[in-house]
Amino acid sequence: MNKNWVATVTAVAVVFVTAIGLCVRALLAPQTVFSASQTEMRIVLDAGHGGVDGGVVGKTTGIKESDLNLAVTFRLKEAFEDMGFAVTLTRKTDAGLYGTTAKGFKKRDMQKRKEIVENADPALVLSVHQNFYPSSTSRGAQVFYSKKREESKRLALALQSSLNALYKTEGVKGRNASSGEYFMLECTSAPSVILECGFLSSPADEALLQSVAWQRKLAESVVAGVMAFLGDFVL
Ligand SMILES: [Zn+2]
Repeated sequence: MNKNWVATVTAVAVVFVTAIGLCVRALLAPQTVFSASQTEMRIVLDAGHGGVDGGVVGKTTGIKESDLNLAVTFRLKEAFEDMGFAVTLTRKTDAGLYGTTAKGFKKRDMQKRKEIVENADPALVLSVHQNFYPSSTSRGAQVFYSKKREESKRLALALQSSLNALYKTEGVKGRNASSGEYFMLECTSAPSVILECGFLSSPADEALLQSVAWQRKLAESVVAGVMAFLGDFVL
């Protein structure tokens, strides 16, 4: 390959990446609609389940949803931090957030998550989960929002569209974002969604979700969806 040509392409790529960086910085500037006092936009990433509550289980490999949720959450953290966001995690280890497993642990777990969200005062909350369905043919990501929150719905639609585009590369038909009544969708006034990243009842999704390369693509896709949602405020 011609050396000058490589240098030109590299220079163009650097300018392009710098321009994107500047756009992101402009987007994250203090005058964003979310908070006049924030210099960084903060996102809470909530890895669902944990501890004695493993969530659903992979049909083929027996992987626990809670473990996969945590792995995907760390990929998301990396991807959002690379884009200049500040990130708060609710769950950082395998353990649940309930203290002891005495009666009412699920409620205590949820209350702790709410407390972390309130203290973080984030611009957005993304709860990470994996789906399960009786049929093994259901595939793809699905995003849930509270129908009482218009902004959450807009965020869900942007994420759903981005994730559908990703799964389309694997020949998976797009799914629709849905409303749902879940604690994590109601515990803050910030836009909040539940990301069901794929189906652990589908052997194909289960294999993809455990691949680091796919987890990275998934994280990039989620960041792109969030950027599309935020972009609507500045256009
Ligand atoms: Zn779950």
